[in-house]
Amino acid sequence: MRIGHGYDAHRFAEGRPLYLGGVLISENGGLLGHSDADVALHALMDAMLGAAAHGDIGKLFPPADATWKGARSTDLLQIVRQKLDEAGYRVGNADITVIAQKPRLAPYIDTMRRTIADILSTDIEDISVKATTTERMGFTGREEGIAAEAVCLLYKK
Ligand code: MG
Repeated sequence: MRIGHGYDAHRFAEGRPLYLGGVLISENGGLLGHSDADVALHALMDAMLGAAAHGDIGKLFPPADATWKGARSTDLLQIVRQKLDEAGYRVGNADITVIAQKPRLAPYIDTMRRTIADILSTDIEDISVKATTTERMGFTGREEGIAAEAVCLLYKK
């Protein structure tokens, strides 16, 4: 059994859709990034790769590589899952915390869990997504961007 941790943050940008946990939250109020800037999935992928000591998503999907420009993070998660599968790992469970002053994410949490569980072929009970504000403190509190943290357990098959 191996544990991994991931962290990511992206700033808000005009005219971009907001994707979190693989789910389209809104057509505006999105985040700046080379891919779709889904911080929740980025933190999760780094936790998965970290558990396997396989580097991070910056190494796997270099921002300088045009292949990944505008990529959906759900597709990247599928690639990470395949890579770990080939290395003999399967996901035990994962827990993601999204840190955002806005928008309110409660209505989307279960859809995010379902989306992630489907990609990773786990039960929905194995995927936790939580959201918190920072009570207006710090860069997330000032609504400059959104951050996410994740932990993940991998089992060697
Ligand atoms: Mg990122």
